[in-house]
Amino acid sequence: MVLDPMKTIFIFFGPPGSGKGTLAGRAKEEAGIPVLSTGNESRKHVELGTELGKQLHHYMQKGILIPDTLITKMVIVWLQEKLATHNRVILDGFPRTLGQAESLQEFITTHDGNARIVPVIFTIPDAVILERLQSRLICANKDCQAPYSLVTRVPAQDMICDICHSHLVQRADDNATTVKSRLIEYHKHASALLPYLKLQFASLETINTERLAPTEAYEAFQNLLIKYA
Ligand code: AMP
Repeated sequence: MVLDPMKTIFIFFGPPGSGKGTLAGRAKEEAGIPVLSTGNESRKHVELGTELGKQLHHYMQKGILIPDTLITKMVIVWLQEKLATHNRVILDGFPRTLGQAESLQEFITTHDGNARIVPVIFTIPDAVILERLQSRLICANKDCQAPYSLVTRVPAQDMICDICHSHLVQRADDNATTVKSRLIEYHKHASALLPYLKLQFASLETINTERLAPTEAYEAFQNLLIKYA
């Protein structure tokens, strides 16, 4: 009997601006790994003005987390589809709360016993984040949303996305006040979620994005792809 190869769900967890989206984007582009960014997906709903988007906007503009029930459903539907055809996927920015992590674990247990979770924790001090997010830009195209930095990832053409050639904009929630709220939210939930992830998954990995340049961080992730092949 030939057993299916083990499927791996990498979960990227870290504060806003810690480089999760940049690394996930590169893994999608270069290694063809499907990525679900719950932040990107939520912004897409807001921009399209869907019924769900109207609800999400209320939380996002304040820099607070969207309730678990709204976000978890979106993730489970995506996982069911992607795990049917791919052995490795990335969840960028999910789970962010203990409740979300428990729902994910329950989904794996009941729907796909052959999948393992590898948490990848991004570490970086708050002071560096506050500075970095002032210079962050994203592609305005809701289907692209590639992240840029005026310091570390400058676009080839001024204010134009290298990938889809749309204009670059600053995210509405990247202003200093909202970033502070997002950091408070992050630490509030991280204090419960991190111990859970450490206890639950022996495979927990860490990438220090204060010390590593984006290319070095990607190399560290490539090593994880080999380790969990
Ligand atoms: P991000 O693009 O990851 O910084 O997320 C932007 C915003 O989307 C956050 O400040 C939250 O309001 C919302 N969001 C994204 N992912 C989640 C999640 N897993 N749980 C709750 N809210 C989320």
